[in-house]
Amino acid sequence: MKTVIGVSKKHNSVWRVYGYDYDDDDKLKLCTKKINPLLVWFYKLKKSKKYNNICDVCGEEFSFYKTRFDKMPEICFNCEEWDY
Ligand SMILES: [Zn+2]
Repeated sequence: MKTVIGVSKKHNSVWRVYGYDYDDDDKLKLCTKKINPLLVWFYKLKKSKKYNNICDVCGEEFSFYKTRFDKMPEICFNCEEWDY
């Protein structure tokens, strides 16, 4: 799973992660997955939070998901494409 945004337990037994992943067309879509309870800590570490920041290039506010270990992006995704 590309971006984990939540880990939760349902019906007393089944742990699930939910987040975004690429489908067959390479598009990000929301999905959920059952996980092994032993891996809960791992997914919690990977969990991303939604943040907002102001783009350094265009000055527009943009939102993104990151884990607490990722660094804060300073350029929005629209402007970032111009670098390549
Ligand atoms: Zn921008």
